[in-house]
Amino acid sequence: MLLHFIDGLYIIAGVLFILSLAGLSKQTTARLGNIAGMIGMVLALLATITHSVAMSAGMSSDGSWLPVSEIHRQSPLITLGLIVAVLAIGAAIGTPVARKVEMTQMPELIAAFHSFVGMAAVLVGFNSFAAPEGAVDSVHMVEVALGVLIGAYTFTGSVIAYLKLSAKMSSKPLVLPGRNLLNLFGFVLFFALMIWFVVAGASNPVLGWTLIIAIAVIGFALGLHMVAAIGGGDMPVVVSMLNSYSGWAAAAAGFMLDNSLLIITGSLVGSSGAILSYIMCRAMNRSFISVILGGFGSDGTPVTAGETDYGEHREIDAAGAADMLWNAKSVIITPGYGMAVAKAQYPVADLTTKLRAHGVNVRFGVHPVAGRLPGHMNVLLAEANVPYDIVLEMDEINDDFDDTDVVLVIGANDTVNPSALDDPNSPIAGMPVLEVWKAADVIVFKRSMATGYAGVQNPLFFKENTQMLFGDAKQRVEDIIHALG
Ligand code: NDP
Repeated sequence: MLLHFIDGLYIIAGVLFILSLAGLSKQTTARLGNIAGMIGMVLALLATITHSVAMSAGMSSDGSWLPVSEIHRQSPLITLGLIVAVLAIGAAIGTPVARKVEMTQMPELIAAFHSFVGMAAVLVGFNSFAAPEGAVDSVHMVEVALGVLIGAYTFTGSVIAYLKLSAKMSSKPLVLPGRNLLNLFGFVLFFALMIWFVVAGASNPVLGWTLIIAIAVIGFALGLHMVAAIGGGDMPVVVSMLNSYSGWAAAAAGFMLDNSLLIITGSLVGSSGAILSYIMCRAMNRSFISVILGGFGSDGTPVTAGETDYGEHREIDAAGAADMLWNAKSVIITPGYGMAVAKAQYPVADLTTKLRAHGVNVRFGVHPVAGRLPGHMNVLLAEANVPYDIVLEMDEINDDFDDTDVVLVIGANDTVNPSALDDPNSPIAGMPVLEVWKAADVIVFKRSMATGYAGVQNPLFFKENTQMLFGDAKQRVEDIIHALG
């Protein structure tokens, strides 16, 4: 009876997670999606805690209860106490970190979280080998080996992604001689060790432990090497891929623990992360296979910044920009990472309201990888109450720049760089970009002539129809609003 109740809660939680993903796919339903996810997580936690406590109290895996004399497990109170203590430690560490983190640091926080999921899968794998839940057959041994490999890969890969995203490590790709052969050797060795582990690991514990630890070491080394080989420009895809791997690691842990909810949740995270990575690769014209194989096929040439002389740039002040905007019929705003740093979304929303009230057609063009995580700009604009219907994706707005009077590039750089289309030698060659230079006038908000995330100079800044408005984006947009009166 209790087991059916727990299974029922697991199913409801699984359905809520699916609804949550469906909700999160549209801005208008994203809040509801989040709420569905939160309720699902509360139910999942309740079900898992009840399950663990009931097992300690003598419930067996088929739901029947053992006679008291046959219960040799720790007391249910100790189980409950341990779970509460672990939850309290996690909440005590996680809550202040999550409250303090800036929106711009979200990708590195996500990468750090993924590393915990990876390490958890490794530990579950070790535990599942030491004290298996059910029968120790070949399927179980394969689950343990795969769970440990994926978990270990996710752990070191996520740590490297965290270090690269937080600029604690160079974002340049690490190129070791024969790196693709090294990766191939790692995978072949893993398969050989896995077969040995499946055949002989269970009957010989010393050999079993040696093999499973060796598999973990291969996973750690592959994660380290393959993610270090990926350059900064591809990092968004890597974070999303690691998200996917952390899901597969959780699903593998679900098989080992015989926990259907963990299998469902892990598969949802694994497949949605993989789909997102694929969509991002298409948006950046990167090969999906090349990215997941650690930059396979790219020569890892380091990014060169500012070597071409594009001539002189021109500048404008806030009053001049205000004048230009007031006389425009159509304006497109393309936000980027700098808008997030400056927290300029609020004055940008005020400026939009003012111009629209004056009859100017104002719209936003959002690049799929603008900012530092997918959907970054959409979240910021929604936070500042910019109407959803004037926020358009790159593909929806790219043909409209020709007929646009003024484009405001607010803290965007790589995502509006024409050399992605014109210069086959550019490190961002082939990445689709917002073709802002086709508008009659372009005003670029930034603090200096510095390069963007990919470290490449932007010829847009030197075009005839471009003018730079230097300074903090929030301050400059407020100056324009002030000048408009
Ligand atoms: P970029 O990172 O290319 O450029 C941001 C610009 O903002 C800089 O040139 C900087 O210039 C300017 N800036 C910074 N602070 C301020 C401020 N306070 N006021 C005004 N300007 C400021 O931004 P994009 O959004 O165009 O491109 C995103 C890049 O990040 C792409 O290369 C993408 O691949 C990568 N990426 C994307 C992820 C994603 O999922 N979205 C994740 C990780 C990386 P200055 O210093 O002169 O002010």
